[in-house]
Amino acid sequence: MAHDHEHEHDHEEEHEQVDEETAERRREQEREFIRQRALAQIRQYPDVALQMRAHEVTEFDEFLVQLVERMQDLMHDAQGVGLAATQLGVLQRVFVFQPDEEPARAVVNPRLTIDESEKAIEDEGCLSLREVRVPVERATKVVLEGKDPNGDDVRYELDDLAARVVQHENDHLDGVLTIDRTDPESRKQALGALRPQPTFA
Ligand SMILES: [Zn+2]
Repeated sequence: MAHDHEHEHDHEEEHEQVDEETAERRREQEREFIRQRALAQIRQYPDVALQMRAHEVTEFDEFLVQLVERMQDLMHDAQGVGLAATQLGVLQRVFVFQPDEEPARAVVNPRLTIDESEKAIEDEGCLSLREVRVPVERATKVVLEGKDPNGDDVRYELDDLAARVVQHENDHLDGVLTIDRTDPESRKQALGALRPQPTFA
């Protein structure tokens, strides 16, 4: 009977594996649905808000706290590593970022001190530029200062991906996008990809 038993066992394992694959596929579909739903709430190029300079925050109130919470939720759902208020059409100098396993951080009225001595070129995506990724040169070390949503001072010394993310988000607050910072050839290709598709009706 040992053989039969083994056979039955194999069969069960196979079943479990198929169920596991189906479950994983469902989870992936669910994540993609959530991502698309979040992207639908984020301004997409060529929305004018993306090209405008945001204003200094003067009121550290409930609106600001709720804005930051909403931004963190959307960043998470959209599977992004950073999000600026201008990407929601809110012209306030606030962004959130989460380049690693650390909890998401929010910075209000950010000031960047950029160490110009070391730079790197990497492809960057943007939640407002659909699938476009373009090479952008950034400093690899920055100091980020500003306030948290409660109005308390914050200061972060960041490098590599974290440094890149906060430079990208800080650019958003000045109405500057990756396609404004990349080389002319990459910009041309990106603008081609972002051109609205003609519809024939
Ligand atoms: Zn962006």
